Amino acid sequence: MKKKINKEELQHKIIETITKRKGRIKRKDLWKASKISSEIGTKALMELIKNGKLLQVEEYINGKKTLYLKLPSKELKIISLEPLKGIPCLPCNEYNFCSEMGNLTPITCKKMDEWLEAS
Ligand code: SF4
Repeated sequence: MKKKINKEELQHKIIETITKRKGRIKRKDLWKASKISSEIGTKALMELIKNGKLLQVEEYINGKKTLYLKLPSKELKIISLEPLKGIPCLPCNEYNFCSEMGNLTPITCKKMDEWLEAS
């Protein structure tokens, strides 16, 4: 008689399978690769996605939508905000009305020109 597998074991097996595939797998390939039936594993998979332990992303290959499952990246990129120090847009009262198009744009803004010249 086969041992009944619980949800945590299913989730562990799903993560392990995706890890072995370098952190990414087509969703349709998951069940065959993990040797879990979709009927048993779908609920565990959906919980992993809901809790952010797995990402489900759509990619278009030759115009055809394919669902991929990916492990979330553990790398956090730290970027310096130093180059933006003193940018006039953050305290600007016109910020909500300024855009690439229209009368008020960064291209014609004197405050922006002054900041760029001083930077
Ligand atoms: S570009 Fe000029 S007008 Fe626009 S938000 Fe920045 S400072 Fe304000």
